[in-house]
Parts: sequence; C-alpha cells; structure tokens
Amino acid sequence: MSQIIHRSLRTTPAVAVSAQGAYITDIHGKRFLDACGGAAVSCLGHGHPEVLAAMHRQIDQLAYAHTSFFTSETVEQLAAQLTRTAPGDLNYAYFVSGGSEAVETALKLARQYFVEIGQPERTTFIARKQSYHGNTLGALAVGGNEWRRRQFAPLLMDVVRVSACNEYRDRRDDESQQQYTQRLLNELEEAILTTGPEKIIGFCAETVVGATTGATPPTPGYFQGVRRLCDKYGILYIADEVMCGMGRTGTLHAFEQDGVIPDIVTIAKGLGGGYQPIGAVLASEKIVAALQAGSGLFQHGHTYICHATAAAAALAVQQVIERDNLLAQVQQQGAYLQQALREVLGELLHVGDTRGRGLFAGVELVQDKASKTPFDPALKLHAAIKAQCMARGLMVYPMGGTLDGQYGDHILIAPPFIVTRPQLDFVVDTLHQVISEETR
Ligand code: PMP
Repeated sequence: MSQIIHRSLRTTPAVAVSAQGAYITDIHGKRFLDACGGAAVSCLGHGHPEVLAAMHRQIDQLAYAHTSFFTSETVEQLAAQLTRTAPGDLNYAYFVSGGSEAVETALKLARQYFVEIGQPERTTFIARKQSYHGNTLGALAVGGNEWRRRQFAPLLMDVVRVSACNEYRDRRDDESQQQYTQRLLNELEEAILTTGPEKIIGFCAETVVGATTGATPPTPGYFQGVRRLCDKYGILYIADEVMCGMGRTGTLHAFEQDGVIPDIVTIAKGLGGGYQPIGAVLASEKIVAALQAGSGLFQHGHTYICHATAAAAALAVQQVIERDNLLAQVQQQGAYLQQALREVLGELLHVGDTRGRGLFAGVELVQDKASKTPFDPALKLHAAIKAQCMARGLMVYPMGGTLDGQYGDHILIAPPFIVTRPQLDFVVDTLHQVISEETR
C-alpha cells in the first residue's frame, strides 16, 4: 500500500513511468492515450523537446530566486508574452503555482482594489452554482460544486450564488435561447440589487464550465450581459479560465469568443502544460494603477511566486503554441472531435448531450433522453466508465453528477493540441463501446 495520502485512501493508482507525445506508459509497459491532458493540463503533449531544453537551460542558470530580492529575465519575458497576447488592457500578470492559488490571488486583488479606491465596505462575491474554482478555502467558497463544498461549508465565506448558464439542463422548452439568457441575466441583476451593489466586489465565473458539468459553454450574449451588469453596478468581472483557457477552446482565452474582456483573469493548467506547476492572474490596468497610486503594495504572496523554472517551461509552451499556430489546429481538430461526438455518441440511448468548444468537450449521460433524468449517483457510472476506458488504454475524465441530483454523470475530453485524427477516432470509438456496455 502506498504511503502517500492519495485521493482514494483505499486504492493506489497505477504507477506511471514515462510519457511521450499523447501517451503515458505505466510500470507494466501499458500505454494510455492521454485524451484529457490529465485534467486539461497537457496541451503540448508530454516530453516536448523544446520545453525540456528551455527548462534545462533555466535550471542550469537560475532555478529559483525569491521575489522579495529578485525578478528574473524569464519571468519578465513570460509576463510580456501573456500581456501582449491578452486583449484590452490586461497589462499585468502575477505568477503563482496553480489554479487555486490563482483564484485566491484574484479574489484578494479584487478586494484590495476596492480598499485602495476607498470602498472597503465591498466584501461580497457573486458566483455561480455548478462551478469549480479550486480546493483552497477562498476558491471553495466561490465554487458551486456542493459535493466538494459540503463538509467545509461552515468554514467558508458567504458568497451570493446565481444559476450557471447550462442550456441543456436549464433552458425551458417554451423559452428561446435568447429568453433563457435574459432570464439568467435578470437573476444576476436581481441578486446584485438584493445584496446591494455597494457591497459587492466581483462576479466570478468559468467561461466554459469544466470539471463540474463537463465543458458547458455559455449561450451567445450571456457574458456580454454579465459585462454590462458589472459595468452598470461598478463591480469587477473575474473570469476563471484555469481549465478552459490558454488555447484549449481554440482561442488563447475562451472569453475572446464571447466578445468580452474581464477585469481579472485566472489561468493555470495549460499555461505550463504540466511541465511545471504554474498559474497566473492577468489584471487590467485600472486595478494595478489603483494599487500603485494607493498603498503601492499588493498585500499577498507565496514563496514560489514567479518561479524561474516554472516560467521557463510556460514561456516555452506558449512560444511553441504561437509559433506552430496550434490554435488553428485546436479549432480544426476540435470541430472534428465535436462532430464525431455528436454523430457517433449522440445516437446512443443514454447520451443526453455532447458539447464544448475546441478541444474541450463534454458528454453527459442520462437514463432517458426525453426526461434527461440522470443515473442514480450510487451506481457510480462515471467510475465504471473511467475504469473500462483505462483498461482499453484511454484516459478521459469522467465525473459524477453533483449532489443536487439534477446533473448527470459526464465525461470530459481534453486531448493535447497535437492530437491526430486517428487518435480522436480511437477516443470516440472507445467511448462508444464503453458507454454502450456500461449503460446496457
Ligand atoms: N479553477 C478551475 C476552473 C479549475 O478547473 C481548477 C482545477 N480543476 C481550479 C480552478 C483549481 O486549480 P488547481 O487544481 O491547479 O488548484
């Protein structure tokens, strides 16, 4: 038995020993197609020679220097790369070690912004149901995944929660897409007014919801409406793109497809592509300017912020994506994957919905397509699907429905941007087989 506290304390996962391209090999020599990038992390695949070379160079030169003494050339270059490629005036970056830290940083940056401009009475965030923002206490507080929150709820700050945008589940039959979107925006405005706009710091949302409901994109116009409401009431719009960002959906940032620019953006996972733990917050000019003009100090920090080796890995990953025009590949392969999922899996009796953007795809399983009734969570269908896929050498990311019983088991698919069509065919065919067998 392993002496690591694994997620499951009763089983030990398989032992991985090497990885190359889209494949991971375990200790028995069995190969797995990594069609979920772990958890949408591995965007360039494994063992990319240029990323490894950049990391080696950095380690030889300067692995780490604490930010209270030094910055480094590499981390400055990474900031320049990310702010140059971000739209609008997202002109500043703050580097941390992962997604939860990025979310914590975003929440604290937003709070400090209002303190600096003389509005310390703003203490509340609005966030959405069916969302995941990380496992630290602040991130868990804004998160809306009840299963993850339940035992920690008494420790969490109060957050005003509104409905997520989930057209498959929540749009009524008698409603147009536009009416549904407007209903959500009315609910958000109502929540802002009931809370009191002068008490609110920001609205926090995943652009495309990842882990909780499985690559659920917003309806057209939803985030434009969110942006308008945030502007109308003077509150900050924080986009959590830890999972859906950094090219995964076919544009560098998913919100670009919604025609909006948030005030603060969190990124991680695909930023470093799994080569090093790294996350970041991108912040707009007005926020940083307020801190500069005010106390001149961001009251936050971690030991490993701006880690030079992590920055070298991320810089190399982002340079390769840009140079090789991999976003175009995400768009093309993504369209192919989404169509194959629709056509091949859509015909199955128990596939309620297939959806997503780019190489970020979700499949939702239901007992019955018409009623959309989820399978009994006690069946743990997602776990069986994961085991059967692994037995066939395929890694996808199946998750159970959330506690409220409204949402079904789903499967998240997020292959590396270098994935080939035969590999995508293998993903779809294997899922077809496994879902058919497990839902018989
Ligand atoms: N935000 C989102 C949208 C995520 O999907 C995740 C991780 N799945 C996080 C935050 C937390 O990131 P991490 O696990 O790196 O702390």
